[in-house]
Amino acid sequence: MADNLVLDRGLLRQYDVTGPRYTSYPTAAQFTEVFDAQRYRQRVAWSNEDPMPRPLSLYVHVPFCRTVCFYCACNKVITANYRRAERYLDRLIQELDLQAALFDDDRPVEQLHLGGGTPTYFTDEDLARLIQAIGDRFPLSQGPEREFSIEVDPRTVNRERIEGLAALGFNRLSLGVQDFDPDVQKAINRIQSVEDTAAVVDEARRQGFHSINLDLMYGLPYQTPERLARTLDAVMDIRPDRIALYNYAHMPQMFRIQRQINDESLPPAETKLTLLIEAMQRLSADGYQYIGMDHFALPDDELARAANNGTLHRNFQGYATRPDLDLIGLGASSIGQIGDAYCQNKRDPEGHAEAVAAGRLPIWRGVELSADDRLRRDVIQAVMCQGGVDFSAVEERHGIMFRQYFAPALDELSPLVDDGLVEIGRESLRVTERGRFFLRNVAMPFDAYLAETRGERRFSRVI
Ligand code: SF4
Repeated sequence: MADNLVLDRGLLRQYDVTGPRYTSYPTAAQFTEVFDAQRYRQRVAWSNEDPMPRPLSLYVHVPFCRTVCFYCACNKVITANYRRAERYLDRLIQELDLQAALFDDDRPVEQLHLGGGTPTYFTDEDLARLIQAIGDRFPLSQGPEREFSIEVDPRTVNRERIEGLAALGFNRLSLGVQDFDPDVQKAINRIQSVEDTAAVVDEARRQGFHSINLDLMYGLPYQTPERLARTLDAVMDIRPDRIALYNYAHMPQMFRIQRQINDESLPPAETKLTLLIEAMQRLSADGYQYIGMDHFALPDDELARAANNGTLHRNFQGYATRPDLDLIGLGASSIGQIGDAYCQNKRDPEGHAEAVAAGRLPIWRGVELSADDRLRRDVIQAVMCQGGVDFSAVEERHGIMFRQYFAPALDELSPLVDDGLVEIGRESLRVTERGRFFLRNVAMPFDAYLAETRGERRFSRVI
């Protein structure tokens, strides 16, 4: 069934401003060092005392990569020296000790995500050591609700490795692709064949993985609508359950490695718009449901089902199906969430290692949500995940008069109402079909911090 996706070139141009992706609210721009390890321990203690303690989600950041992709904006370490990864793994296990000591043991790990960098930089033996270490310290859920996912660079795995990941308990997979065109791949220094990628997906399916995701990117050097269409032909043959179609944000002043990409090789703004529109229309025509932001899923994938039954949620990995977990971040730069507090580890592996070696949690910064933050987070989540807000539900939960409290935000939305992107009634606000691509623009007026950070290039462009 084709998704009814309405894309207007003029509106895409008009609303292409910078803005947060709202994987959290407040965003990481509001994290400060006032939130430290002591505050973190306090938050965990409170979460243990909850009459129904939330199950756990673990995110483990593995920053290592063998080669660098020139578009990369991730926190990574490019090295061929595997000793560094071994030392990092030792520190991760020490960090697990520090974290496990804080949590009551009646809180199962229902979600585990290994992200990077390249988690499959670790050898099979070291991945097994990591999973064993987690299982020795936390109760790993064995139930059907368990989601154990890993980001896989198809260039680092073969059939045997996929089989090994399944044996370790992983059941979801996300693969980086970006584009299959040889000239584009050469310009981004990421050479990866269709055949190898398809073989990884085939084997993953054979091993019982589901919700398999492929990451694509538009706006890359030498990309043309024809080249991207050929990539999409190949992707449609592979038919992943989910597709993320990201915008390449060229910011060489912030990310040095992007200086390897010649400005002249980038598609002009109008071509970039064509790439986006044609790719989205193609995915929609080929049966993928648009979830929001950059995400698409087949209608029988649980992400699409969550979007349809109103249980979609947004967290640091993007769209998700589970809202009710506390998140422990492990490794350099990883972000956690315990109840109404967010925290982030030290960004560089050296700082992370130094703290852990000294027996300290490597917490760098964080934020504890105020009542106003919680209210705005609910509203922004509702816009981003449900495409609208019921005023009375928010009023009941937070004890406010919605129209009064958010009068400035509703005023700020007037141009979007005039452009048919959003409808505001007496009791609710609804994003229209035309407005589905502009969720960030609809959410931004409810963000109390945005005025402080506007003008700074902290956030990517909406398009
Ligand atoms: S594999 Fe991922 S993290 Fe590593 S350089 Fe490429 S894009 Fe960056």
